[in-house]
Amino acid sequence: MTKTLKGIAASDGIAVAPAYLLVEPDLSFSKTSVNDVDAEVERFQKAVKESIAEVEQIRDTAKKSLGADEAQVFEAHLMFFNDPEFTGAIEQEIKKQKVNGESALDQTAQKFISIFEGMTDNAYMQERAADVRDVSKRLMAHLLGVSLPNPALIDHEVIIVAHDLTPSDTAQLNKKYVKGFITDLGGRTAHSAIMARSLELPAVVGTAEITKSVKNGETVVVDGLNGKAVVAPEKDEISKFTQMGADFAKQKAEWKKLRDQPSVTKDGKHYTIAANIGTPDDMTGVRENGAEAVGLYRTEFLYMNSAELPTEDDQFKAYKAVIEGMNGKQVVIRTMDIGGDKHLPYLPLPEEMNPFLGYRAIRISLKQQDIFRTQLRALLRASAYGKLGIMFPMIGTLNEFRQAKKIYEEEKAKLLKKGTKIGQDIQVGMMIEVPAAAILADQFAKEVDFFSIGTNDLIQYTMAADRGNEHVSYLYQPYNPSVLRLVKHTIDAAHQNGIWCGMCGEAAGDSVMFPLLLGMGLDEYSMSATSILRIRSQMKKIDTNDFKDLVDQAINVSETNEDNAKLVSDFMAKHTK
Ligand code: PEP
Ligand code: MG
Repeated sequence: MTKTLKGIAASDGIAVAPAYLLVEPDLSFSKTSVNDVDAEVERFQKAVKESIAEVEQIRDTAKKSLGADEAQVFEAHLMFFNDPEFTGAIEQEIKKQKVNGESALDQTAQKFISIFEGMTDNAYMQERAADVRDVSKRLMAHLLGVSLPNPALIDHEVIIVAHDLTPSDTAQLNKKYVKGFITDLGGRTAHSAIMARSLELPAVVGTAEITKSVKNGETVVVDGLNGKAVVAPEKDEISKFTQMGADFAKQKAEWKKLRDQPSVTKDGKHYTIAANIGTPDDMTGVRENGAEAVGLYRTEFLYMNSAELPTEDDQFKAYKAVIEGMNGKQVVIRTMDIGGDKHLPYLPLPEEMNPFLGYRAIRISLKQQDIFRTQLRALLRASAYGKLGIMFPMIGTLNEFRQAKKIYEEEKAKLLKKGTKIGQDIQVGMMIEVPAAAILADQFAKEVDFFSIGTNDLIQYTMAADRGNEHVSYLYQPYNPSVLRLVKHTIDAAHQNGIWCGMCGEAAGDSVMFPLLLGMGLDEYSMSATSILRIRSQMKKIDTNDFKDLVDQAINVSETNEDNAKLVSDFMAKHTK
């Protein structure tokens, strides 16, 4: 029977395809004793063989669809299956304790994981703990006779249905077959949603129960324009949604005509519209959508898509590719922002009650300086190839910025001493995403070259509402006067101190927020590449002479998010046609 679920529209577009459930099966088991240990060992060996065959197939498919680098992690897994020290130890436990394979596997895996995690002076060995976890999960599934989802094996068009998608799950999706995704959890600014936008995949998140409502292979609609998912649609609904998808594609084609036009208002004022990217691969979208700069390169995806810490050279190559690709237009690269909802399997972080308020971003960089210094060297070397801005995420105090800048200066001095070529006019700026920094923007503005306002975090911290939690998504209010006051204060502080101010949070590409930001004189608008032409088209319709008291109304008269949504909608209706 048809069922419609309401969620959050996370990425534009509409798609209809069979569902692919990316849901882990129950892997719980009971410890039992066995009499015939030889038969149990044989059962275990059969699970090993099946796991090897499965991983070999995944590796081969991943190599073809995603490339050799992405497939490398599976080679590491195969080594474990074939390692007698690991699988042999499990067989020994079965024999010694006369227990079932599941129990022997669990005990042995736990032992290996704690040994690897304990090797705190050897990052490479520490990273192996994640491999043991993966390998054991697969073995356990085979022992229990259940199957794990294997997204790398998808070979036909599907819509991914998941409880939640981590950014690294999202990074592994093959765009050729994955037509969209729907999740139980998440908000518009969760990183999986941001990735969906950069992949131009329609997405609906926060439906609460899609994984319980749809079976593998059943037809689903993902309506990323209206935040709806439809399970088992009737024929007429399929044609309605297919038509809506086609209309949207037509609208997009209209916007595409603006690709090579400058971003100007009706009265001819130019403001930079830039793109947010996660990997050098996103440069295709940057070009196709006519971005005038890269306003945010989230470098953490480079770390997340790698099986170990990326080397200085790996990073240099990625940064250089992006900087060169922009042909002299500015590229703002943000230093690693790990923590919160972004994790590295090979860099264990402490278990935290509130990861978004915890050990994250610049806080990690200032503590684990070897990682930070490597990144800064790679950035400095890449700066020789164009116009680079470096910015630090999650700065909360002047002291944090000063420490980060000092480390940057030290690495720069060392490279210059060695005769390394670096850019002449690198700018060093910061994200404004912690309310403390927004409030003190006038002090920060005296020390930085630019600001980039990160509304995704600034809103969650101002409203005390987790950006990825659908239960409090009603509090995620970009146009709330409190948020707008912080934004305006930041822009004013920048301008009073002669520096530029951009915004790289998702609000920069929001059609309601945009006229307000333009009214405040924000200099640069950095957004998912797919939003650029829609905003450029909106910009062309706005005459800045019409603003008059729009911003004053928004921050001093309006009381709510909704008041401001209406204020902007009335403004657009009155002044643009
Ligand atoms: C932000 O917080 O607005 C931002 C751009 O950073 P991220 O979404 O990566 O946290
Ligand atoms: Mg942020």
